[in-house]
This record gives sequence, structure tokens and C-alpha cells, in this order.
Amino acid sequence: MPLVHSLIRSVVPAAVPTRLAELQPDGSVRCGVCAHRCLVRPDRAGICGVRENRDGVLVSTVYGAVAAIGVDPIEKKPLFHVAPGTLAYSIGTPGCPFHCMFCQNWEIAQAPRLGTTVSTRHMPPERVVDAAREHGAAAIAYTYVEPTIFLEYALDTARLARAAGLLNLFVTDGYATPEAIGMLAPVLDAANVDLKSFSDAFYRRRCGARLAPVLDALQAYRRAGTWLEVTTLVIPGENDDPSELRALAAWLVENLGAETPWHVSRFFPAFRMLDVPPTPIATVRRAVEIGREAGLVHVYAGNAPELGLEDTRCAGCDALLIERRGYRVFSRLTDTGSCSTCGRALAGRNLARGPERPGAPRGAPCG
Ligand code: SF4
Repeated sequence: MPLVHSLIRSVVPAAVPTRLAELQPDGSVRCGVCAHRCLVRPDRAGICGVRENRDGVLVSTVYGAVAAIGVDPIEKKPLFHVAPGTLAYSIGTPGCPFHCMFCQNWEIAQAPRLGTTVSTRHMPPERVVDAAREHGAAAIAYTYVEPTIFLEYALDTARLARAAGLLNLFVTDGYATPEAIGMLAPVLDAANVDLKSFSDAFYRRRCGARLAPVLDALQAYRRAGTWLEVTTLVIPGENDDPSELRALAAWLVENLGAETPWHVSRFFPAFRMLDVPPTPIATVRRAVEIGREAGLVHVYAGNAPELGLEDTRCAGCDALLIERRGYRVFSRLTDTGSCSTCGRALAGRNLARGPERPGAPRGAPCG
């Protein structure tokens, strides 16, 4: 795509050479970070808009260029089985390899594609880690846009974060190549992967992508030992067909395991889908039922607090393990992250007590 993001470039000290780039005989560079595998011609950028071919070198124009920062409950990512009740220092740069028509962060994700400007703040990796610790976070989340587009920045930050005792979390579209996952996995603790639909036509029409690479990436993350939670935004008339949801849930059980958390999230109009109504509550409830009927143990309803389907129950004895009310978390897990009734360990990461966020009564009995 043409180079349009002059403001982004103006606030980044220097463009940084990228990893997984192969120079071609004609001066083009093949990027191997995501499944688009863009062939980037000289003085052009890849589909994400932030990896540019400058004189045969593919460079990242967003290394350290943070467009969004948040200190969020880890449950907001959403990650329900990782360090419950803690904070995740969350960052994202401009750009994205997808162009989802329902994107909620389109102002930053689609800025390069739209040719709009976006303000960024320069934060070198060490500054991100320092800020996370200053805010009492247990983790750094690479999020808001697809984080593989800033692979080099995420890797450098994640290595420092790991050394500082922080968790590293990806909130991702699941389009990373096996090579990129191989580089990320050693420093990545958990990922929430969007499985936006179980239809390749939906991925092509609504996101500018394909389904198969996402399924491949989910399996690659699992093989690499990254804790996975999966999110599906259910959009009326788009991906809410019960048979499609049933097939998706069955795939999760078969390929990722019955104890993989599945977050079924309610859609609200955004970006280029302003004319589509919010998902009916009954549809979200039915999707949760479909997940459970398929054999998934931990199915959660997102953006639908009226359903009260956000609690975690034991896979062994069905005892209530973690109660959630909004972002308030009431954990009944033992200090080792197990069920206090039957002793079964809850699937997840860092479920024992960790740094608690203010006002989050972890370990307290449910009212
Ligand atoms: S990260 Fe993906 S979209 Fe961006 S240049 Fe590389 S292959 Fe293309």
C-alpha cells in the first residue's frame, strides 16, 4: 500500500529493521510475520501499513510508537484464567493487517489504510516495563491492534518484562506465521485469540483475511505451550448461525481442549457496521449454551453483564471458583490455584495469588 502515515513517522526516532524479512532479487521484500506474507515493493508498505521497504530493507515505522495505553483489569482483555484480579499494562501502536468492518479501535488500527493521522507517544521497551511496575501491573498486554505488526517492539519489551517478573499477554487476531509464533512463544505467557467466525467467506468479506491461518496459529500457540483463551464476537446475521457456532465450538474442543475458555461477546455497532443492531441477549445466551453442549467447560458471555455468565466453575465438581461482577473478582481458589472442594487444579496460568489490583477482593468469600 502507498505510504500515507507521515505523523507516525515524525514521532518515531528511527525506523527499525524488521525480523522475518527476505529480500527478493527485484528489490522487493517478503514479510514473514503474518499470513498475508506481503511482497512489499520499494517505497511501499505491507497491508498493515507500518512495515515499509526502504532501499531493500523492511523497516518498522511503529517501534516504540504507542497510540493507546491503558491500565486495565486483566479480565478486560479478556483473560479469565490468568492471574485473576490483577492489572495488565496495555499498549498498542497504529496499524493492523486486518480491516474488520466492525473494528472498535479503527481510529488507530486503520489509520495507515485510511490515511488519517494518529498521535503517538514514544515509549522505549524499558519505559513500558517501568510504567507497568509503577502502576502495580502483573502483566503487559500487547493489544488494541494486532500486536504482531510491532513484533520487534513487542519482543524487546517482552524480554525485559519477563526478566522483571511480569507476564506477557497477546490479544491477537491469530494471523501470526509459525515463524513469528516461534519467536514469540518463549516470552509469551498467554494469548486471547479472536476466532471471529468459522466461515472463510466471513473472514474474506468482513476482515480482508482467511480462516485457515487462524486455526493453524491457534494450534501452533497450543503446541508452543502458550495459554489460550478464544473470543468470538457474535454479530447478528453475520456469524450467529447456530450450526456455524456449533462447528466452531466443536473445533475448539477437539483441537485446543475442553477446558479452553471461550468468550462469546455481544456486538455493538462500530466503524462500518453502524447499521447492524446489537446482538440480541438471547443470541448470546444461546451461543453460550451451544459451547457447553459441544463440551466446552468454560464458556463466558462478554458485553452482556445482565446474563451473569462470567463466573468460573470447577471442571471436576462444578463448585464456584471465581465469581465476577463487572471487573470485581471474588476468588475461592486455593493458594495453589485449585478447587477448595475437590482439589482439582483450574486450567490456566498464575492462578495462585499475585499482585492484586486495588479494590479487587481476591480470595474473599463471595457475598
Ligand atoms: S505484518 Fe503482515 S500485513 Fe504487515 S507487512 Fe508483514 S505480512 Fe504484510
